[in-house]
Amino acid sequence: MLTPFAAHDTSSRGRRYPEPSPANRSEYQRDRDRIIHSAAFRRLEYKTQVFINHEGDLFRTRLTHSIEVAQIARSIARALGLNEDLTEAIALAHDLGHTPFGHSGQEALNECLRDHGGFEHNLQSLRVVDVLEERYAEFPGLNLTFETREGILKHCSQKNARELGELGQRFLDKTQPSLEAQLVNMADEIAYNNHDVDDGLRSELLTIDQLMSVSLFAMQYEEVRRRYPHIPVRRAIYETIRRMINYVVTDLIENSRRRINHAGIKSLEDVRRYPESLIAYSAEVSGKSRELKRFLRQHLYAHEQVTRIMDEAVKIVRELFEAFMHEPASLPPQYREKLRQQNGTREQARTVADYIAGMTDRYAMREHARLFPDD
Ligand code: MG
Repeated sequence: MLTPFAAHDTSSRGRRYPEPSPANRSEYQRDRDRIIHSAAFRRLEYKTQVFINHEGDLFRTRLTHSIEVAQIARSIARALGLNEDLTEAIALAHDLGHTPFGHSGQEALNECLRDHGGFEHNLQSLRVVDVLEERYAEFPGLNLTFETREGILKHCSQKNARELGELGQRFLDKTQPSLEAQLVNMADEIAYNNHDVDDGLRSELLTIDQLMSVSLFAMQYEEVRRRYPHIPVRRAIYETIRRMINYVVTDLIENSRRRINHAGIKSLEDVRRYPESLIAYSAEVSGKSRELKRFLRQHLYAHEQVTRIMDEAVKIVRELFEAFMHEPASLPPQYREKLRQQNGTREQARTVADYIAGMTDRYAMREHARLFPDD
């Protein structure tokens, strides 16, 4: 039941290395299946967003986050008549390039690579599926379709866009990606805002009293308390978050449908040419969502207990990078070999960054303990 403006795999812009069409799957199903079987996907289990993985088994990891994003994104795609397979593929792959230790890890690596082209996690996700996964006899990477790769590359600097050719073109032309890519972007935001509220409360870094200053939370929590005055707090929190997700998802679907109709969108080409993203909240919910984000930045991401752990993470990433650059002998054989064949520092720094970016939190900590035993 795809709408004419959905991405249809029969009119895909194809794969970098042409392959025969799959027999019993769509092209985008094949993309999704390749992503699920990749090593980078499995490593998401031991990579964190905000909290360090070993602190508690109930907190989200990037793997559970990616699955939540896929779930939310597929619901939206189905409601709007968009391509669920493509949506799911993009959602499951969207964080593959993340470094260990969430955003601090990525900022630290970006800093290490300041003189060598920098580090962007979106670009790294693309690098994982295009180059770094070595699983197929006939091509490097996973050889995904253009549309999945386009969705993975959410943002990109102008400089990098120029080097990317076809895939970077839209950042230079200021055109839009498919609606499927646009909605995964929003589903990502919905998933992390809401699970950060949940994890924040569970860890007791946030309190319900504090959250009552956020209208998205207060609105639902008051309603839950009024309707179910006797349920335990933990259950009321789950019920509140469930309703918060439902509220913003419903708004997103209805408002996007209105925008698509209003703009007279008839094809994927119309989507691409439209001056802005068609998948968007109403002005009211957009404001409320910004309020929640601001709250999380102030009270959770900047919480002393979080930043203390993150400072430690920055130190680990920085010291690993320096150690591997100065002492390539401490790298695993396949990376050592790669470095030996490369002659510029820039290329070598990229190889070391690939190795570090691929690490899980616990692997990075183990490597650090091995290289700095007295630390
Ligand atoms: Mg994400």
